[in-house]
Amino acid sequence: MEFEPVIGLEVHAELQTESKMFCACPVVDSTQAAPNTTVCPVCAGMPGALPVLNQKAVAYGLRVALALECEVNRISIFARKNYFYPDLPKGYQISQYELPLAEHGHLLIQTSEGEERIRIRRVHLEEDTGKLTHVEGGSLLDLNRAGVPLLEIVSEPDLRSVEAARAYGEALRAILRYLEVNSGDMEKGVIRFEANVSVRPKGSRELGTRVEIKNLNSFRALERAVSFEIERQSRILAAGGVIEQETLGWDEARQATYSQRSKEDAHDYRYFPEPDLPPLVIADEWVEQVRAALPELPRQKSSRFMQQYGLSAYDAALLTAEKEVALYFEAAVQALPASVSPKMLVNWLTGDMFALLNQSGGLSGLGRIPPANLAGLVKLVAEDEINAATGKEVLAEMFAGGQSAEEIVQRRGLRQVSDSALIAALVRQVLEECPAEVAAYRSGKETVMNWLFGQVMRRAAGKANPQVVRRELERQLKV
Ligand code: ADP
Ligand code: ZN
Ligand code: MG
Repeated sequence: MEFEPVIGLEVHAELQTESKMFCACPVVDSTQAAPNTTVCPVCAGMPGALPVLNQKAVAYGLRVALALECEVNRISIFARKNYFYPDLPKGYQISQYELPLAEHGHLLIQTSEGEERIRIRRVHLEEDTGKLTHVEGGSLLDLNRAGVPLLEIVSEPDLRSVEAARAYGEALRAILRYLEVNSGDMEKGVIRFEANVSVRPKGSRELGTRVEIKNLNSFRALERAVSFEIERQSRILAAGGVIEQETLGWDEARQATYSQRSKEDAHDYRYFPEPDLPPLVIADEWVEQVRAALPELPRQKSSRFMQQYGLSAYDAALLTAEKEVALYFEAAVQALPASVSPKMLVNWLTGDMFALLNQSGGLSGLGRIPPANLAGLVKLVAEDEINAATGKEVLAEMFAGGQSAEEIVQRRGLRQVSDSALIAALVRQVLEECPAEVAAYRSGKETVMNWLFGQVMRRAAGKANPQVVRRELERQLKV
């Protein structure tokens, strides 16, 4: 029997406001700051300390909710989710339960199956917990992260493949970054996934029993953990077994899921309305204000790029996946003369420039070449001032040294030789010196052409216009 996976994702995203959710403590990078330096009686859970809601965090949550086309609840309620854990000093987490900030949205994703519409069940506000580090002889507790605003975004079980789960995660991360509510630094744990996974016989309409895999901190872990579960569950069902509903962890070292506990039900948390916070009332005007201020989002940007610059869907998606790249591209394209095709700029940016960025530790390297300088390089190539091979060399030097293409070409005398008389002379010279190869070519060994081409280019120190060289070679070999 063939099985079909059913996946629903719960995404926790930190809202990177200046202060925490319910107190004035600053939000700091918890991988950088010294432990327990931004803690007060509220976020340390002292008895009698009272929470005050951070308006900015609500505004950020609204941005995300509206970008996901959710309906915003004009009244939502904070609740206490009770459980004991050493990194949760109050003994409960303030979250939203019955009435979340927003509901019924959707996110469009792109997979090899085409475009898919994934429904969003709810978006709600809550607070993050502290952080435990286990050391020999005990555990260390850092409360810097306790009380940092978190947004939980819960999908409907609409994802049908590992690929779709990843695409959803990436699309959501891109939106959070475009909205400037989250840095997207996965390695710092500012976005965490929980994957709910079940399988069912293909064609069945019913949902199978699901497991929930907690705390997946990277796209790789998400993919691996979901694949592992799909396989494990399919094997059990194929053998006539049943799936236990449980909460699982992901073991990086063993690349396997493991059981943490049998799944708790909502009533185990004894949710009740938070008595220290009034209902959150959101005025229509506020919603409209936030909506009007939404920036252009990845999908809108990519369709605009297709229209405005004549790019393919593939190129447009590549350029808009990261906001910095999209902004960089647009700044560069503005500096490009109208006679040069934007597609050529895209090729240099997503080809050679991306390769340089990959080697040097990522997107932060974009700043090493001002956008106008990349446009300058592309212009020199487009106008045949330098050839593509020289262009690559110049780009690498621009990346290393910060000079413009024009300066480098000028200083190193790299300007391409297109002078046909000069090139004709070089070709003649090479043909005279290599009679054996010329004979081989004339007797039908056409690949010798490439070798001869190489000889001419070498003599021209790589600077000859390759089209002119080829044309001249062909011409002189014909006679
Ligand atoms: P909780 O985990 O708090 O019990 P829910 O029951 O609302 O919350 O479900 C959480 C997530 O599980 C949602 O993303 C939902 O889409 C997903 N989900 C629910 N049922 C299934 C299922 N049978 N298979 C896969 N995912 C599921
Ligand atoms: Zn505090
Ligand atoms: Mg859950």
